[in-house]
Amino acid sequence: SAVSTHWESCNLNASLEQQDLDHLFHPCTDLAGHSRAGPLIWSRGEGVYVYDSAGKQYLEGMAGLWCTALGYGEKELARVAAEQMETFCYGPLFAGKSNEPSIRLAAKLSEWVPIDGARFLFGCSGSDANDAQVKLVRYYFHAIGKPGKRKILSRGNAYHGVTVATAALTGLPAFHKHFGLAMDEVIHLTSPHFYRQGRPGESESEFVERLGQELEQVIEREGADNIAAFFAEPLMGAGGVILPPEGYFQRIQPLLEANDILLVDDEVVCAFGRTGQAFGCQTYGMRPATMTMAKALSSAYVPISAVAVPPFMYEPIEKAAGEVGIFGHGLTYSGHPVAAAVAVRNLELMEERGLINHAAAMAPAFQGALQRLADHPLVGHQRGIGLIGGLELVADKESRQSFPAAEKMAFRVAAACLEEGLVVRALPGDIVAVCPPLIIDPAQIEELAGKLERGLDRALKSVQATRSA
Ligand code: PMP
Repeated sequence: SAVSTHWESCNLNASLEQQDLDHLFHPCTDLAGHSRAGPLIWSRGEGVYVYDSAGKQYLEGMAGLWCTALGYGEKELARVAAEQMETFCYGPLFAGKSNEPSIRLAAKLSEWVPIDGARFLFGCSGSDANDAQVKLVRYYFHAIGKPGKRKILSRGNAYHGVTVATAALTGLPAFHKHFGLAMDEVIHLTSPHFYRQGRPGESESEFVERLGQELEQVIEREGADNIAAFFAEPLMGAGGVILPPEGYFQRIQPLLEANDILLVDDEVVCAFGRTGQAFGCQTYGMRPATMTMAKALSSAYVPISAVAVPPFMYEPIEKAAGEVGIFGHGLTYSGHPVAAAVAVRNLELMEERGLINHAAAMAPAFQGALQRLADHPLVGHQRGIGLIGGLELVADKESRQSFPAAEKMAFRVAAACLEEGLVVRALPGDIVAVCPPLIIDPAQIEELAGKLERGLDRALKSVQATRSA
């Protein structure tokens, strides 16, 4: 009967929850809080919606972790994965062996990526791809006789990954503290976050000028002969949806180019339409030397990442590898045929469905809906571009005073949104991030905005109740 089926599924859920609590180690989680609250278990997805194990529907306003661009339940991608597994499940790219999906993906990416003649090195995650970038730029400078160029410039609020090297690049304290990371070869510059880093009375262009001068001073102090690369996301995602101030890259790039410091463009969040153009570097006029991609490359159906390597780097690396043996880098799953086949089909579907144009067409409605929330009592700053946005929550709009950390305001909002049936993400600094699948339509944008507004209201009431209690 319906009743007994209901009870069976409840028991199943209860035991799944218990097994989660007993056996899983959750990444990036308040583990003590998790053991009290228990897991939210997803069971399926369709389009922009996901469903929990009790069957409740949520609009996935974060595209997972900024990644499910094409939306959930895409049967074409499932079919391609199954076919590839049946035909040829795995073969490495080591020692010159190859597989058709990897070849086709590299060729497809060469049509998309605005770096002429680039070659593509595949990985499994944004972190390992950025880790490879650190090795590539150092190897390259070694190969051209400048082995002193080793230091890497990054920025406060940057997110480049969690491996030992890339966590050192990431400019968020939680990813450094207590891990004993070797940070001496990474230099963090000021975050380009005008709302927080701009000084009283300073204009946006004066702020950009100050950041430019800071870079000049760092190059002077460290010596151009010791600096290999400058890592930058076009806009910062996990650091708080921070858009570069007007003219930022235009001020920075000539300094990098004059000092032979390679601009590594971390497009893990931005690539494949997020900003309303194919790549974030196009939106912001960046001239990247190399580029890192992941996430929307496969719309998260399979783990895969890619690094674009330009000819000016590949050629000396090719020659140097001859002398030293090989370029000693590669993962078992670099160029995994199933992942590559899914990524090729994902990019084809984006082309066939005009997904980049769709994202650009939806952007005004999406940004407009977020702008309406700028007047909400909790919101100090609202920002975004394309189909990505952030709300920075403040206790006082005038002074920009933050909420006490103990009030966990952004987490409160994210939790309240879940009650409303909307997934958003709380980021450090009390920022609520929104980044829906690129397939979102106008009605769903309105639904998202309505739920977000009700979530903000609910969180405000709950914090007021806590304070008066
Ligand atoms: N770079 C950026 C800009 C990212 O946002 C992320 C992940 N959020 C990474 C790198 C690391 O990617 P991954 O989690 O796949 O290792």
